[in-house]
Amino acid sequence: MNIAGFYPKKFLGQNFLFDDNIKSKIIQACNLSGEDFVLEIGPGTGALTKELVKIAKGVVAVEKDIRLFQILCSTLGEYLNLSIVNQDILKYRISQSNTKVIGNIPYNISSPIIEHLINQKEKISVIYISLQKELAQRIIAKPGGKDYGSLSLFVQYHTSPSIKFIIKSGSFKPRPKVDSAFVELLIRKTPAVSVKDEETLFKIIRAAFGQRRKMISNTLKAFLSAEKICQTGISPSIRPEDLSLQDFAKLADLAG
Ligand code: SAM
Repeated sequence: MNIAGFYPKKFLGQNFLFDDNIKSKIIQACNLSGEDFVLEIGPGTGALTKELVKIAKGVVAVEKDIRLFQILCSTLGEYLNLSIVNQDILKYRISQSNTKVIGNIPYNISSPIIEHLINQKEKISVIYISLQKELAQRIIAKPGGKDYGSLSLFVQYHTSPSIKFIIKSGSFKPRPKVDSAFVELLIRKTPAVSVKDEETLFKIIRAAFGQRRKMISNTLKAFLSAEKICQTGISPSIRPEDLSLQDFAKLADLAG
C-alpha cells in the first residue's frame, strides 16, 4: 500500500484515517476550546493535527516514525501553537497541566498507552482515543460478562469511560481487520472507590482474574482466608467476574 509515496509500517500500527466525516465527528466529540492544551498521540500524516491546531491554544504531537515527523514538520511547521516531537509516546512525560489527550492510537500498544497516561493522570483532564472495538468493550464492561476484567476495573477506578461512536474499519487506510470505537476517558478527580491501599486492590484484582474461572477462595488464598472473605458479606465461592469494584475494595481493605 502506498499513500502519496509513503509505505505504512504495520508494527507501528499505521492505519491512516481518511474519512472526512469521521475526522469532523472526532473533532466535534473532543469539544475543544481556544483555551485547551492538547497532546496528540501518533499524528501520522496530520489528519487530525491540522484541525486541532486551528482550535486549541497549544498542541504537542508525539510521533515515533521519523519519516512522518519530517512530513509533519514540512506540512504543519508554520503553526506556532504546534510542537512536533519525534518520540515514543511510552517515554513521553506530560508537563502541561489540564491536558486533553487525543489520538487514533496504534492498536498494538493501546493498553500500555492507556496505562502510561493514567499514571500521569494528574496532568490530564480527559482522554479521547480510538481503540479496537473489542478493547473498548472490555474497558466499559460491567460485572457479569466475559469482557469484564482487570482492565475494566483499572480504567473505571481512575476514569469514567464511555464509547462515543463506532468507526468502521473502511475509514482507515490500510484497512484494519476490525472496527474501532472512539472512546472518552474522563479522568476522575477522586477514584471511583476509596481503599486503604491501591496497590493491594490491584494485586487482588490481578490475582482473581489471573484464573478467572476459579472461585476467589482459591485465587485469593494468599491474601484472605475463606472466613475473612465471608466477613465482607461476599461468598468465597463467587468468581471474579461477578464482583464489582466496590466488592474488590472491601476485600482489599480486609486484606491490607
Ligand atoms: N493520527 C493518524 C491518523 O488518524 O491518520 C495516524 C493514526 S495511526 C493508527 C497511529 C500513529 O501512531 C502512526 O502515525 C504511528 O507511526 C504512530 N505511532 C506508533 N507507535 C507509536 C509510539 N510508540 N509513539 C508515538 N507514535 C506512535
